Amino acid sequence: MQIFENTEIAFKHRSDKELKKAAILFRYMKNPVIVKIAGILANLGIRFNLPVKWLVKPTIFDHFCGGERLEESRELINFMAKFNVRCVLDYAAENQKSEDEIQAVINEIIRTMDFAVNNPSVPFSVFKPSALAPVQILANAGSGEISATRHLPEIEKFRNNVKTLCQAAFERGIPVMIDAEESHYQDIVDKVAIEMMELYNKEKAIVFNTIQMYRHDRLNFLKDCLGFSQQKNYHLGLKIVRGAYMDQERARARKMGYPSPVYADKQSTDNAFNSAISLCLENIGNTSLFVGTHNEESLLFLTDKMNEYNLKKDDQRIYISQLQGMSDHISFNMAHESYNVAKYLPYGPFQYLLPYLIRRVEENKSVTGQAGRELQFISREIIRRKSLINKKQ
Ligand SMILES: Cc1cc2nc3c(=O)[nH]c(=O)nc-3n(C[C@H](O)[C@H](O)[C@H](O)COP(=O)(O)OP(=O)(O)OC[C@H]3O[C@@H](n4cnc5c(N)ncnc54)[C@H](O)[C@@H]3O)c2cc1C
Repeated sequence: MQIFENTEIAFKHRSDKELKKAAILFRYMKNPVIVKIAGILANLGIRFNLPVKWLVKPTIFDHFCGGERLEESRELINFMAKFNVRCVLDYAAENQKSEDEIQAVINEIIRTMDFAVNNPSVPFSVFKPSALAPVQILANAGSGEISATRHLPEIEKFRNNVKTLCQAAFERGIPVMIDAEESHYQDIVDKVAIEMMELYNKEKAIVFNTIQMYRHDRLNFLKDCLGFSQQKNYHLGLKIVRGAYMDQERARARKMGYPSPVYADKQSTDNAFNSAISLCLENIGNTSLFVGTHNEESLLFLTDKMNEYNLKKDDQRIYISQLQGMSDHISFNMAHESYNVAKYLPYGPFQYLLPYLIRRVEENKSVTGQAGRELQFISREIIRRKSLINKKQ
């Protein structure tokens, strides 16, 4: 696809050495045996606090992450900004349990907002709901109205934690995205997110909720969200993704004996994803859209639709995003074409990032999957650079 093909633009920010290193990494990630061993090692590392850092840090960690501390990411953020590619600082905390841990996460996320206030290259902040309350508590509160669950002190704590972050985002004028995780605790997250949008999105979209389009109930949920926002007169902030927990969702549904919440086939997910984009653009008057995907067809669908609705490429209500270390051919080419691009840049203590890294490796493992595509573009750029040197000689 023409817009994504220019590897010179896609990898201008990578030195020859970095490109070669990335090629080796994706070559390994295409190998299912190596991926399996790496997955086992990483899981053992998490469970028993094993010293796997020496292996993971210089390889996948450095490729997919900004660093262990916020300040370590600064140089990379400033460098990417030269290519019109912005970043979302994603503090990689999930499944926090104790109050002290949760408070530390809240403080750190507010630090990312403070960092963003002084840096136009960081246009959003983000957090994971499971970083603000134990997952079991969120799951138990899943059903019922938020007003009915208010009396539950644990849920009230979660709601207050979310509110603290949304209020901080509002005061600083830095939009905040609430990531989506597994469906069995999403209901309470949706309820709180809608409440926060009603509170803070009167003038513009400050709070963004995430909708995972691999769930077959989400198009209706999206329509409900559009309806609520229009009735109550606030801006709807939405991050649209396909969803990262398909295997876990299916396994849990099988184990607990309920129908899987995820579509049975990829095509249905793709159709729902495109329908979500169409619906958001039809309602762009009061909707802001953040599209997180590495799928080229979806992004072409988005750009065609933007054209159809006469929306400017850099319309401030529309952002596209890929994860750090993935799909630079999309991010850098689209940014070059003046679309708003912000890459998710995870950072945080090494142990916190291991679950995230396992998900990235899993996502990249199949030969037909992401690693193959990444490798194809990187190899093409390595060959292009070599041919330039040969021509000069
Ligand atoms: C910036 C950004 C933010 C993200 N935030 C979140 C988040 O908050 N929550 C979250 O869950 N994920 C999040 N993701 C991950 C995302 O949901 C996807 O897992 C990932 O981007 C791969 O999907 P894709 O659209 O890029 O690519 P594609 O390769 O087109 O799609 C792969 C996805 O399709 C779906 N799929 C694959 N096979 C099937 C099948 N047989 N049946 C049904 N569906 C299928 C799955 O969702 C799979 O992940 C984010 C991704 C990005 C880039």
